[in-house]
Amino acid sequence: MTDLPSDLQSDLPTDLPTDLLTVLPIAAAAPAARRSRQARVVWGSRVVTVGGDAPVRVQSMTNTDTVNVIETAIQVKALAVAGSEMVRITVNTPEAAAAVPHIRDQLDRMGIDVPLVGDFHYNGHRLLTEFPACAQALSKYRINPGNVGKGDKKDRQFAQMIEVAARLGKAVRIGVNWGSLDQELLASMMDANAARAVPWDARQVMYAALVQSALHSAEHARELGLNPDQIIISCKVSGVQDLVAVYRALAARCDYPLHLGLTEAGMGTKGTVASAVAMGLLLQQGIGDTIRVSLTPQPGEARTQEVVIALEILQSLGLRAFNPSVTACPGCGRTTSTTFQVLAKQIDDHLRAMMPVWRARYPGVETLRIAVMGCIVNGPGESKHADIGISLPGTGEAPAAPVFIDGQKAMTLRGAGIANEFHRIVEGYIERRFGSVTTAH
Ligand code: SF4
Repeated sequence: MTDLPSDLQSDLPTDLPTDLLTVLPIAAAAPAARRSRQARVVWGSRVVTVGGDAPVRVQSMTNTDTVNVIETAIQVKALAVAGSEMVRITVNTPEAAAAVPHIRDQLDRMGIDVPLVGDFHYNGHRLLTEFPACAQALSKYRINPGNVGKGDKKDRQFAQMIEVAARLGKAVRIGVNWGSLDQELLASMMDANAARAVPWDARQVMYAALVQSALHSAEHARELGLNPDQIIISCKVSGVQDLVAVYRALAARCDYPLHLGLTEAGMGTKGTVASAVAMGLLLQQGIGDTIRVSLTPQPGEARTQEVVIALEILQSLGLRAFNPSVTACPGCGRTTSTTFQVLAKQIDDHLRAMMPVWRARYPGVETLRIAVMGCIVNGPGESKHADIGISLPGTGEAPAAPVFIDGQKAMTLRGAGIANEFHRIVEGYIERRFGSVTTAH
């Protein structure tokens, strides 16, 4: 095993032949598959399947006042255009419930047929029964078992919401959250734990209470007449390792589609990284059928950022392709200019801006891979791995930028117009390769 680095040798059985790299293929890594039921979230002609053989779905939530119909419809449209396949809105008051059908109408007039999900807490039983147009305009109801009611009201109010969903054929997310966990359930499980000969850690009791709240509520909904294929489950927590523990347990105990997300992930880099790590760990294990990134927008940041991150998480894992990918090197002391950074950003921005048009005009364009590299060290190699790549000159290198198309060096660009020329080459490639089936690559 002398050909292998020492850190790898230590992981290998000692009885493998020394030339194992030539006789044993290295298995490709890929997300595992978890067979879940499939739920359908429907609006008009639009059916968003969740679970089963459906791709992992992206969803988001507005932060407008639902009473403001126009502002909410505009934000729903922005989220849908960014790639959100379902959008949740707060339905917290009679005024909000009254606004929901008008938001739906406004979206329909704008040609935005994304399904709306109503987020209900405390008074959902009243709003869904007293505002039938709201109940009808929504495609899915999120019901939090911890916020349905207390004591004997809890079962009655939960039943009222489930009855509406069953009658109208709406999907339901049983959405448990550790910040609003059913306190009566938690207290009874804490008492039972205290009576154990060796009590569990309090955190383990909390995990069990989250899972039990979700699964017990789902069973109760089925007893009340909800079709199991109308049920989606979530158990949100704000810590990465807590989320992994809870969702592993959920996935092992049911076959409902799972809505995945960290609750209160936070802002900016912290929220983005925590969401990506948590969801990446679980999605790689086949756990998660729809995701939402609960990002606190930074001042001035668009709400659509949570959708952008969700799409990137799924695309990074190879689960879905939404946008052409641009591979760019980080730069180092071999290149003192920012030319490649500027070019990579220009290309990325241009591709994202054009995608709403290109998606319809050039089917498959989302699978395009572009490389923009800073110097000769990895530039040609990385560029050859991409569909189209450019290796810019590093410090001291000749002022020439070879362009590679489908792994072959196609041309060399020189001079001040490299960026514009590369843009034209990329667009020409997209047109040739994805423009028509008769000229397909
Ligand atoms: S490709 Fe060149 S400039 Fe970019 S990180 Fe590698 S060595 Fe540095």
